Amino acid sequence: MRRIISVFFLLFISCFSFSQARYYLTADRVFDGENMHTDWAVIVEGNKIISAGANLKVPEGALKINYPGSTLTPGLIEGHSHLLLYPYNITDWDTQVLKETDAYRTARATVHAKNTLMAGFTSARDLGTEGAGYADVALKRAINEGIIPGPRLQVAGRAIVATGSYGPKGYDYDQTIMLGAEPADGNDLVRVVRDQIGKGADFIKIYADYRWGVNGEDQPSFTLDELKLINEVTRSSGRVMVCHAKTKEAIRRAVLAGAETIEHGDFIDVETGRLMKEHNVTYFPTVSAVDQITQYRGWKKGVDPDPANIVNKKRSFKDALASGVTIGMGGDVGVYPHGENYLEMELMVEYGMKPLDVLKAATMVNARAMHWESQVGSIKPGMKADFAIFSGDPSRNISDVRKVLFVMKDGIIYRQ
Ligand SMILES: [Zn+2]
Repeated sequence: MRRIISVFFLLFISCFSFSQARYYLTADRVFDGENMHTDWAVIVEGNKIISAGANLKVPEGALKINYPGSTLTPGLIEGHSHLLLYPYNITDWDTQVLKETDAYRTARATVHAKNTLMAGFTSARDLGTEGAGYADVALKRAINEGIIPGPRLQVAGRAIVATGSYGPKGYDYDQTIMLGAEPADGNDLVRVVRDQIGKGADFIKIYADYRWGVNGEDQPSFTLDELKLINEVTRSSGRVMVCHAKTKEAIRRAVLAGAETIEHGDFIDVETGRLMKEHNVTYFPTVSAVDQITQYRGWKKGVDPDPANIVNKKRSFKDALASGVTIGMGGDVGVYPHGENYLEMELMVEYGMKPLDVLKAATMVNARAMHWESQVGSIKPGMKADFAIFSGDPSRNISDVRKVLFVMKDGIIYRQ
């Protein structure tokens, strides 16, 4: 009995000391989500930041964390992931959707989640399971319960497409082909949105256009009225609608219907960007997905000239920058390996964005786009203790975000 009591006592002590764990973090530079500071320290108690700034004393009993020549940032946020997918040059999308079981894909996704966290991404917005049902909802639960390591997630579930628009395509119509998202139209959208919410969707992801034009070009799918209906039903549950939209017309409809974010936007121009800005819409350009897929198709980057879609993507990114629309960081990771989320950040710089702005996009801007700005994405008292430390200075050389030294999420050290 005495032994049992002492075991409980030890457990109690260890839990107590764990919850009260104090850290004093310093680095050559501290990026607070908006500005870079060279004289800052951050004090963490339990899972919260209790102070951040210059001239802070080391609290009694605090564990000091410092890496020479490094930069401390808020835990990075991936704005557009697909944890249930992995690179198409390993297994093409059709095969992943049609031949792989949800159980197999979920097993892989646990590794993807871990790789994401270890790359310094302590939060992620996941934009649809592409045929794996609500495996993302379960993944989120397992991470939140501490069963597996991973970023804190906001998940879309199945996502919604207009009948006839989405893939996999090209199979004999005698077979029933499971799609990569849930089809719905007209008034049935009300039921499907509510069903997805009931099954755990944190937001509703819509494909506002798709490559189903007469010549395989991108064309709008849902009408403006359908999008308005989806948005109304989604909003009344306290959630938001986000839209995959590449064409100007689909972006216009999505924005007018109330979408909070636009994904891809390949054919955006300055005028469309301005419309988005007027409506406080955040744009996720997913430039690395286009870059990677084009390379999978044989483009030798740096050797071959830029193909038309890359030329177009660079132009539209510049137009978006010129329009002043808020740009978030989300790469459609899953198309390329989870854990290489930095590829999007590197390309955003290559396409004309300042490295410091890319850091902002991957922290504070993404946090706002997810309505999590009171919890994550910046370093100030009361925020969750989510950090990454990188060797070097990513505000000068964005590729320094590859050099991860340290990751803390919710006050727990995952990489050191
Ligand atoms: Zn996507």
